[in-house]
Formats: sequence, structure tokens, C-alpha cells
Amino acid sequence: MAHFIKNDFCVCCGVCVPECPHRAISDFNAFGTVEYPKISAERCDDCGACAAICPTQAICVMGGCPMT
Ligand code: SF4
Ligand code: SF4
Repeated sequence: MAHFIKNDFCVCCGVCVPECPHRAISDFNAFGTVEYPKISAERCDDCGACAAICPTQAICVMGGCPMT
């Protein structure tokens, strides 16, 4: 189980990236291009910090939210 980001809801604001205590969320703008951030299932421990701060409710736990 791990949290994941629904791209349809994500506005690439970047707020979630530094919020993760395990650095599980990729720096989506590292190469100067706009891409959606991604969560590493290996690093994520489902603490929920990123989901709590996301302004568009784009982050949720697998199986715990609608896919769209
Ligand atoms: S906080 Fe939410 S909207 Fe902002 S980049 Fe992260 S997932 Fe996307
Ligand atoms: S749920 Fe917690 S550990 Fe997982 S990506 Fe979000 S902030 Fe990081």
C-alpha cells in the first residue's frame, strides 16, 4: 500500500514535495519541464502528510479514494 497522485487533479504546485519526511515524492520539475510528481512506493510509509497539504486533494492512498 502506498499513497499515489492522481494526475487529473494535480496542478503541479510542488507543495507536497518538501512535505514528505522520507523524500518519497520526486522533484517533478528537476529538468525544467512540467511533469507530475510521483511517489515512490518503496519509500512511502503512508503517513498522509502530503495528502493533508495538497490543495486539490490529488493525493490519496491506494484503494482509499476514487480513481478519478
Ligand atoms: S500538492 Fe497536490 S497539486 Fe500540488 S504538486 Fe503535490 S499532488 Fe500536485
Ligand atoms: S504519505 Fe507520507 S511518506 Fe508517503 S509520500 Fe506522502 S508524505 Fe511521503
